[in-house]
Amino acid sequence: MLNLFLLKLVLSFVMQNESSKSNKGKLLLAMPRGFCAGVRRALDIVDNVLQETPPTVYVFHEIVHNRFVVESLRKQGVVFVESLEGVPAGSTLILSAHGVAPDIEQQAKAKKLKVIDATCPLVKKIHCKSCKLLEDNHLIILIGHRGHPEITGTLGQTKGKAYIVQNAAEVEVLPELKNGQNAAYLTQTTLSREDVADVVAALKRKYPDIEGNGDICYATTNRQEAVRKLAPQCELVLVIGSPNSSNSQRLREVALRCGVRAELIDGPGDIKPEMLPDSGNIGITAGASAPECLVEDVVKILQKHGWQQVEEMSAEKPIQPDFKQD
Ligand code: SF4
Repeated sequence: MLNLFLLKLVLSFVMQNESSKSNKGKLLLAMPRGFCAGVRRALDIVDNVLQETPPTVYVFHEIVHNRFVVESLRKQGVVFVESLEGVPAGSTLILSAHGVAPDIEQQAKAKKLKVIDATCPLVKKIHCKSCKLLEDNHLIILIGHRGHPEITGTLGQTKGKAYIVQNAAEVEVLPELKNGQNAAYLTQTTLSREDVADVVAALKRKYPDIEGNGDICYATTNRQEAVRKLAPQCELVLVIGSPNSSNSQRLREVALRCGVRAELIDGPGDIKPEMLPDSGNIGITAGASAPECLVEDVVKILQKHGWQQVEEMSAEKPIQPDFKQD
């Protein structure tokens, strides 16, 4: 009799639990999300080198800004360095996807390092543009984050002559043009259109004939568009990415601008029950350097919390990459 009572109690608990679970909304997965072509290319380069060049491979700066990726490469013998001082002569050195300033390549040459360039072709394109602008005597303005490796690399391409601006207020202190000179701007690839709009407007007020049309890459734009589409339908947006990943930080900001709570998480371990809404949809996206396995693990955890249904939501008219993988 007691056993029957207990069985009924357990069954009623399970049914109530299932019913409360069904009140949870859906998991809306942004499309596209995660690895972009530039990141895939960089990681393929490291994988190939690891197979051919035992035992130690040096990478200048984190190959891509993702803790999970960097830690797993460390375990395979990759050593990440921020200067070439400790790199033994003759070693193999891979340049990260963010690109480097020419002086790093010169130092590597002097040390007779075998350099393999994993710079994203879209960053290389900006390097070429900046060199051409320097040759043509333009006043060059880089819109981006001071100290970010991509901006440091592009600044180096201009021999340190470009001016970095992070916001519209900084435009006011830029120098006046010399006789016959024009200004041109370049942007970091991982900004958002909102970040850039105010700065470009301020630049156009100061230099009415300024050249430039923005260099935010296709991958950044598409991932942000997908978040703009799903965020208004969500109670929470989870962005999978590391804190030093610029494009992941921007994805979180895009969701916040849609009026939705958004959290940046490195992976499933960062999900706390108190972070989750009582009901409604949860949006999930991943920065361009975050692997899909982390998305899968996050989905599994959220399913355990009751969000059973999974649906993908695509950005409208995603832009295609304008470089071929080689
Ligand atoms: S985010 Fe854009 S610029 Fe950066 S590696 Fe990916 S494709 Fe290249």
